[in-house]
Amino acid sequence: MSFVTHLECSMTGKRYEAGRPHNLSEAGKPLLVRYDLDALAKSVSKEALSHRTEGFWRYREFLPVENAENRISLGEVVTPLIRLPHAEKKLGAAQIIVKDEGRLPTGSFKARGLALAVSMARELGLGHLAMPTNGNAGAAMAAYASAGGMRTTIFCPDDTPRVNVEEIALQGGEVYLVNGLIGDCGKIVGEGKEKAGWFDVSTLKEPYRIEGKKTMGLELAEQMGWELPDAIFYPTGGGTGLIGMWKAFDELEAMGWIGAKRPKMIAVQAAGCAPIVKAWEDGAEHAPLWENAHTAAAGIRVPSAVGDFLILRAVRDSGGFAVAVEEQAIFDARDEIARTDGLLLCPEGAATYAAYEQSLHEGRISAGDRVVLFNCATGLKYPMQSETRFIDRTKPIDYAQFG
Ligand SMILES: *Cc1c(COP(=O)(O)O)cnc(C)c1O
Repeated sequence: MSFVTHLECSMTGKRYEAGRPHNLSEAGKPLLVRYDLDALAKSVSKEALSHRTEGFWRYREFLPVENAENRISLGEVVTPLIRLPHAEKKLGAAQIIVKDEGRLPTGSFKARGLALAVSMARELGLGHLAMPTNGNAGAAMAAYASAGGMRTTIFCPDDTPRVNVEEIALQGGEVYLVNGLIGDCGKIVGEGKEKAGWFDVSTLKEPYRIEGKKTMGLELAEQMGWELPDAIFYPTGGGTGLIGMWKAFDELEAMGWIGAKRPKMIAVQAAGCAPIVKAWEDGAEHAPLWENAHTAAAGIRVPSAVGDFLILRAVRDSGGFAVAVEEQAIFDARDEIARTDGLLLCPEGAATYAAYEQSLHEGRISAGDRVVLFNCATGLKYPMQSETRFIDRTKPIDYAQFG
């Protein structure tokens, strides 16, 4: 049972049939899944949802998987909303809320997108999946595909953090390091479609990852009592999550579950890789390739995004903006929030806090705004500075030093 009616080219609106594998549209743009929202609204209520427990699969009516047996689950949870009281006090801010996606299987919100992409691949009878990845997406794909009995081949830039590469391999992915960036890895995946016979699961090049990421919008709305925040700061790489949440809000409004009010969608990038920020500032519809992309926040090191125009549209339609933060500001933010509020953000998540602080100082956002920052992965997957204070237990210990 699913309420999918068809798929649609996000650029031209051309219709495509559901129920068979798709990559990009003929126009070379992402496909969006469309539903019979009236029938969907009749089949489920806010009340019924509130009693369900199974993480993002609780939104099954809003998702494309038809046969429940194809839903692959690794113990998804509803990710918590966590206030930052120290930061609020320091900045005189009303409410800073972190949605902590690091609690999902494989430690990042890539679990949402890949659970859907892989479950749909199983439903459509695909046995071998491939993708380029900066780490987290590959780990999520390997885990869900192994659980679903499918094979994966995964290509990472050779400076991808070791922990991600090892995680992918341990979870059954056949992983290769490539001397290039994510775009170079993507090219290998694209060229291998015919020659190696795998299915290309690159960001936005198949339609179902967006549907998984859409559950962030559904979940946030439900957690906030079907009242959206004033602003959402989103660390933007390929932009799947921002596009997915925007789609969720549109679908919820069409169903009459929320009103027309939308949060300002704020796309956060690193100064060393900020194609969307440049396009936003230039008033452009597309973002040209960013040369020499660099940032330790690997999830947002994406020099070129197929869905650039969809990200920019959502940002503009919401009255939001795109903002870049310096590398030092990202790590200062991570260290500060960990030390004061006890939450270890990933660098991409820390970038959203740095961007919030910067936007507040620049007057682009007001202290009275209720803001949600997305922490998209656990901070534990990233290199940390080593701290070793040593005690020689065989000698007398000077307890005064602890005073
Ligand atoms: C993938 C990723 C992002 C970027 O997400 P998109 O929705 O593709 O823009 C941000 N942070 C982390 C930790 C990621 O893994």
